[in-house]
Order: sequence, then structure tokens, then C-alpha cells
Amino acid sequence: MFNKILIANRGEIACRVIKTARKMGIETVAIYSDADRQALHVKMADQAIHVGPAPANQSYIVIDKVMQAVTQSGAQAVHPGYGFLSENARFAQALEQAGIAFVGPPVGAIEKMGDKITSKKIAQEAGVNTVPGYMGLINDAEDAVRIANDVGYPVMIKASAGGGGKGMRIAWNDDEAREGFQSSKNEAANSFGDDRIFIEKFITQPRHIEIQVLCDSHGNGIYLGERECSIQRRNQKVVEEAPSPFLDQATRQAMGEQSVALAKAVGYASAGTVEFIVDGDRNFYFLEMNTRLQVEHPVTELITGVDLVEQMIRVAAGAPLSISQDDVTLTGWAIENRLYAEDPYRNFLPSIGRLTRYRPPAETTTYTPGTAAGDVGDIVVRNDTGVFEGGEISMFYDPMIAKLCTWAPTRDAAIEAMRVALDSFEVEGIGHNLPFLAAVMDHPKFVSGEMTTAFIEEEFPDGFDGVNLPESELRRIAACCAAMHRVAEIRRTQVSGRMDNHARRVGNSWVVTLQGCEFALKLTADPQGTTVEFEDGENIRVASDWRPGHTVARLATDDAPLVLKVDKITQGFRIRSRGADLTVKVRRPRQAELAALMPEKLPPDTSKFLLCPMPGLVVKVDVEVGQTVEAGQALCTIEAMKMENILRAEKKAVIHELRASAGDSLAVDDVILTFET
Ligand code: ADP
Ligand code: ADP
Ligand code: MG
Repeated sequence: MFNKILIANRGEIACRVIKTARKMGIETVAIYSDADRQALHVKMADQAIHVGPAPANQSYIVIDKVMQAVTQSGAQAVHPGYGFLSENARFAQALEQAGIAFVGPPVGAIEKMGDKITSKKIAQEAGVNTVPGYMGLINDAEDAVRIANDVGYPVMIKASAGGGGKGMRIAWNDDEAREGFQSSKNEAANSFGDDRIFIEKFITQPRHIEIQVLCDSHGNGIYLGERECSIQRRNQKVVEEAPSPFLDQATRQAMGEQSVALAKAVGYASAGTVEFIVDGDRNFYFLEMNTRLQVEHPVTELITGVDLVEQMIRVAAGAPLSISQDDVTLTGWAIENRLYAEDPYRNFLPSIGRLTRYRPPAETTTYTPGTAAGDVGDIVVRNDTGVFEGGEISMFYDPMIAKLCTWAPTRDAAIEAMRVALDSFEVEGIGHNLPFLAAVMDHPKFVSGEMTTAFIEEEFPDGFDGVNLPESELRRIAACCAAMHRVAEIRRTQVSGRMDNHARRVGNSWVVTLQGCEFALKLTADPQGTTVEFEDGENIRVASDWRPGHTVARLATDDAPLVLKVDKITQGFRIRSRGADLTVKVRRPRQAELAALMPEKLPPDTSKFLLCPMPGLVVKVDVEVGQTVEAGQALCTIEAMKMENILRAEKKAVIHELRASAGDSLAVDDVILTFET
């Protein structure tokens, strides 16, 4: 076994690999860029080597610099994580030449699977189902239209070198085929320096289901069940789970066996993933093979009990697999939510800045998967992260902050555990998608397991602007807020020094308003909790250990757990829970009467301004003063976090003044241009 390995990556995946290496008694070496001097993976590793400036193409993915670090450190092996150099055959080759082990598959397998056209041909020869389509290259837009007609609409136009959801378009007719061909080609040329395009059938009602495989260099190969990854935004995964609620055992086995056959056909050795698209009738078709550790590998670890990183390292050291297909059992259910620094209220634009608060839910490992079935009621919470409170989310890298996973014996229990974990997760200082994830976890279609890759597009067609909770939930929250407010008031009168009976002075009648609803409540407190009575006679029993100053309240209403994020405001609280962001006012009846008479304060009108939604660089401004723009028309392009974001007009308007131009660096809410009124 190795004594020392270098991890050629950053963020959560570098931290995750370090954990297993440490468990195996292997020393670890981190690499880092200027932006990552204080990063968690640097702190966790035994040794850390600087590899260059912040942009990845000047540090983490410069093969020479990484190789230099490898030599300098004396590491015997390199784990590449995902992204970066993980699927770079030249890097694997450089390591091979230097006599360093690559914790990944052989160079040949990376090359063959790195290209979508080549890999599809190999898959076909290995007896794997592939998506019907045209296997050749497409030369021009008219060619694309002709082939699309042969394949039959709808079609998927794809870049052979594509990855990360880039270089891909659906076309439903000739015009879209022409346009899709051109934009896929451009995107592929820009992102991958390779503009080869092919066309295949677009599978309708598609689910993305993938198989985890594990092979050694002695000819052994096994599969570790599947992951369902259908919840995607713009072809990027957001929520994953294992097993899939859609597969039966026969389909699982067929997919697993085809995946292992494909892996063996390319002499695969290491962990890898074969991605399939599955239609409504459970026909499955090969999409691509990812020759690396996958982002969402924890859900597989949670249901199989296999540490995939440990297996990868063992295989790279030449050991045979320590488990056979018969040893693989799938126990319970695991769900992963990807927490992204993307602001759901601003069309998921990337958000950067300092994490003024970062408190993940406590990790629990009461159950060791694979060793026992686990009693019903057991849950596991796992949070893979590369950040810490006070740290900075920079514009240079992937916006993923953490991967929150829950495991439970059943799918419903795993979902419920995830809801509670999300409600307990505190992140402040940057925009993030926690509320959106909470909304997905509560969505009936997700809960029923009947989702396709179109889920987010279909269920959130106008984006996401927060959750409106049903009245039953509002009542629970109102009752809790009244009980908490009473506690806060008692504390306040104590602090103000009055020594008489505080509880009595605080009073028992309260009016709670939230999300446009008003409830008049009567409270009866005893040492175990508070009984809250509504005007219509409903009673809710509230128990909690919340104290003024706590930012998370763990309560129970009639014994059902409820977790609220709590910020004190005048006469009440700002409450965040289940994807909703509520201003909850708790007033005495007389105060409530007066409040009702107050004119409503309106937020400032910013509709005349186009504000910059995130810190970034103006790439171009598409409009001129005096120009009339239609709703949806592009106004300006801002680059942030390696992504170009096009800002569009929300309605028809006339441009009044331009305040920014190409090359300007802008902060959040800087004015880019103004509209005439
Ligand atoms: P990438 O390399 O970018 O991950 P994939 O080929 O894996 O590209 O496709 C990414 C996603 O696009 C899939 O998860 C699926 O949602 C969708 N997709 C790809 N090909 C098809 C297809 N032929 N029909 C329907 N959806 C597809
Ligand atoms: P998945 O593993 O879920 O299929 P992808 O294939 O889209 O996801 O990519 C894996 C991960 O690597 C993603 O989180 C993506 O953002 C990241 N990634 C992809 N390309 C790069 C790159 N060039 N540099 C850094 N990270 C990358
Ligand atoms: Mg893919």
C-alpha cells in the first residue's frame, strides 16, 4: 500500500479523499492556488503545496505544475477527485511515465470513454443498449437538419467532447435543429476546443439513472446498484438518490451487467459510472461513462457500506477487489442534496462572498450501512463539504458548497430526515439554494418518486420565488412563534429589572400575522410546554428548548418535529422553514389593531434600474440609449464563476442611460443601466 498520496483537487472532494486516506494510514498532500491558502483541504492535509494563481487553468489543471508538486512531495500516487484533471488522459500518462500511480482507470479507458461518439460505438459492440441515432460526424447545419429528420424529432444534438451539461441542445423541428447545431458547435469549441457534433434521438419522459461500477486490474468487475439523478437543472444534477424509485430488480440487474461488460471491454480498473437514460417503459440506453469518482457517490456508499475511495486506492495499488458481486447488498435509502452558492430568487445566478454563518446539521452515524439492516427509526446525516464559517466563496471555482445526504430504512423516512436536515442548515452571507431544495423535498411529484429530467423545468417554469406554506403549516409556525415570543418577552421584562411575576405581566393573548394570515391565540404555559388555542377551538401543543438568541429552534407541535431558523425582529421573528421565508409578527391584541391601521410600507421601486445581480465582469452591453427593448431581450452579459450570465429585459422598455460598459467590474446591486419611465 502507498505511504503518501497527493490529491490533485480542492473543495469537498479533496477533503473527502483525505478522510479515507487518513483512515487507511496514508499520508496526504494537498495542492492549492492563491485563492485557497486558507481552504479546508489545505488545513486537513498533512502537507500542502502551492501550485499557482487562482484561475484553475493557471494552477489546478496545469499538468506541469501538478507534476512538479507530485515530485516535490514524494507521493507515490495521485487521486484526481472529479472535474479538473480527473478525466485527462495526458495527465494519467504523465504520471505513468513518472512511475506514479493514478488513482483512476488506465489511460486507454479514459481515452476511449472520454469521447461520446467513440464510447457509444464501443458500448454498442459490447452489447450495451445505446440511444438510436446517427453515429457519424455532422458537417453543417443542413446536414444536421437532414439527419435529424432521419432520426425523427425530437432529437438531442450533442458535442462528442461534451461534459457538465455543456454543448447539448434539444430540437423539435428543422429550425431548432439548425440553431441547435450551431450553438452546440460554438459552445463545444469554446468549452472543449473540439467542435465535433452528433445527433441522437431525444428520449421522452427521460430519467437519468446511472450504475456504479468497480473493477480491479485482475479482471474482476462488479456493480454497486444505481443512482437516480433525474432532478437536474440545465442538465446538471441537483438531487440524487439510491436506489432509484423506478427500477425493478430485473432492470437493475440488466443495467448492472451491461455496465460491467462495457467496463471490461475497455480494460477498466477503478471506480467508474455508466450513465443511462431510461424511458417511461423502463427501456434504458447508454449515455456515457464517467471514468472517475462521481460527485454523488456518497448515496451509493450509504446504501452499500462500501467506501469507494478506499476501493479506488486499493485497486490503484494493485490489490484485487475485496468484495464480489454477491457481497453487494442495497440497504435502505439515501438522498443527496447539492447545496449550491446560487441564488434561487435571482434565477439561480452564482453568488459569491464570505460565509458569515455556516452551521451544517450535526452528522450522525448511528448505523453502519452494509453491516446490519438498521432498526427502523435509525437515520444517518452526512455532509461532505470543503468550506467553513468565515471562509470565502470565490468566483473562481464550482459553486457547490456542500453535499448533504441522509440515509434511512425507507425512502419516505430519508426524505423526512432531509427536510429536517435542510431546516437545520444555517448558511448566511451568500445566496444559496437551501429554500429551493426544501421545496423540492416537499413536492408531491418528488415524494411520489414520479419525476423525469424535466421536473424542475415543468414544476418551476417561472423560476423560484419562495414557498407559500399551506394553512396547516402556518398554524404550527404561528403557535411556535407565539410560544417563543412569550419566552422572549419574559426574558425582556426580567432584564429590565422588574422583580414581580414576569409571566403574568407578559400576558396570554397574542395576535400572530404571517404570510397574509392572522391568528388570535391564547397561550397556557406549564413547565413541559405551551398549549396554544386558536379562535376556532383548535389546540396545538408546543414543546421546545428555544431560548432568546438561538438562531435555530427545534420544536415539536403535538409531538411532530419542526425546525425553524429564527431571527428576532421588532414585534416578532423572521422565520425560515421548509423553503419559506416569513415575517412573523406577534403582537398584543391592541397593538395588532393599531398595526392594521398603519399604511403598508412599500419596498423602494427599482424597476427603473437594471441592477447587477452578482459581483462580476461586464462582458458586453447589447443595447444603446434610446433603444426600445422587448421582454426577454438580452441587455447585457456578466461573467462570474466561469459562467456567462445574460441579463434580459423583464418587460418592454426604453433604455434611458448606460452606467456600465464592457470591462467594468461590478458589485451586487450596482446599476448597469436605467429605463425610461
Ligand atoms: P454530460 O457529459 O454533459 O453529463 P450526458 O450525455 O451525460 O452529458 O447528458 C447529460 C444529461 O442530458 C442527461 O443526464 C440527461 O438528462 C440529458 N440527456 C442526454 N442525452 C439525452 C437523450 N438522448 N435524451 C434525453 N435526455 C438526454
Ligand atoms: P457528475 O459527476 O454529477 O456527472 P459532471 O460530469 O457534470 O457531474 O461534472 C462533475 C463535477 O466536476 C461537477 O461538479 C462539475 O461542476 C465539475 N467540473 C466539471 N468540469 C470542471 C472543470 N473543468 N473544472 C472544475 N470542475 C469541473
Ligand atoms: Mg453525464
